[in-house]
Amino acid sequence: MSSQLAGLDASKLTITKTTTPKERLPNEQLVFGKTFTDHMLIIDWDAEKGWLTPQIKPYGPLVMDPSACVFHYAFELFEGLKAYKDAEGKVRMFRPDMNMARMNKSAARICLPTFDSEELLKMIGELLKLDNKFIPDERGYSLYIRPTMIGTDPGLGVHTPSKAQIFVICSPVGPYYKTGFKAVSLEATDYAVRAWPGGVGDKKLGANYAPCIKPQLEAAARGFQQNLWLFGPEKNITEVGTMNFFAVFKDAVTGKKELVTAPLDGTILEGITRDSILSLCRERLSKDEWTISERYCSIDEVKEAADKGLLVEAFGSGTAAVVSPVKSIGYHNQNIEVPLLPGEQFGPLTKQIADWIAELQYGIVESDWSRVI
Ligand code: PMP
Repeated sequence: MSSQLAGLDASKLTITKTTTPKERLPNEQLVFGKTFTDHMLIIDWDAEKGWLTPQIKPYGPLVMDPSACVFHYAFELFEGLKAYKDAEGKVRMFRPDMNMARMNKSAARICLPTFDSEELLKMIGELLKLDNKFIPDERGYSLYIRPTMIGTDPGLGVHTPSKAQIFVICSPVGPYYKTGFKAVSLEATDYAVRAWPGGVGDKKLGANYAPCIKPQLEAAARGFQQNLWLFGPEKNITEVGTMNFFAVFKDAVTGKKELVTAPLDGTILEGITRDSILSLCRERLSKDEWTISERYCSIDEVKEAADKGLLVEAFGSGTAAVVSPVKSIGYHNQNIEVPLLPGEQFGPLTKQIADWIAELQYGIVESDWSRVI
């Protein structure tokens, strides 16, 4: 890219307000990703000019040539982050710089243009100010923000896109668990893999998601709520559905606990919730009682630990649910029971982490992870 190309520039943002404002649904009627705010942010890119004038305009359909490369060769990537309203009505995004960095990595991998993260964040901030009324203020509720980038180049040859577009849409959402945690049953998938070394499983490309639905449907048909992804002859656990996976083991001799999650080896999405959990646990859990490990962990290790009473808990992590407790894992006609607290739908660390992260998201505890707009 030549240096004469225009960079993304928030100071050039133009705003066209809707003439038909919508009402936000009452909180209890919100369904994830079904209703959207009044406006969207759109920025076109052209290989000869760079980033063009950013626009906020009324939410509505995109018009695109049917030969656009997004439709044929999956030049598409996206992000998912949330904005929260704190007790004073201030709007806060949670670690949005991490989403921007991951979005740029995804873009670079499929030859879509990269951009200045800070400029995009400023413009998302403007969108949130304009659509502030759609951001619920009740605890547990938030505004889900979906930044997306597509290749818009017309023409059927497979080539580097010379035209692209970023758009950002927002959807008010309720808590993942409306009536408190509900632990899920998983089926370990050993006939399909989500990602592989040297692949793109660590990028948030739309193309990674469509092939994952079938194993989930198959798990559902056998009575499980989600599927657990394994990789390699060792059957290492990589992710759960579209979340990162964590397990807690106990040492038989010392009683010391170990929090384990898969390492960032390119086969798992570099989850921002995963990163937050690792940082918080490293900072806040007693080093005498806990080891925090990013290492491979096979389904057999989990089974063996469960058999010996050394599996303490397991959960998934992601922006939508923050943490999602696991109650059982089906694997080759065996059922691995995952302990929960007596009479509860979660294990102790799962609940602790949910509370820690919510306090940061809603600004109850101030931190530089929470960006006030
Ligand atoms: N893994 C996959 C495959 C995902 O799509 C996501 C996001 N839904 C995650 C993990 C969790 O990432 P984050 O914590 O950044 O939401």
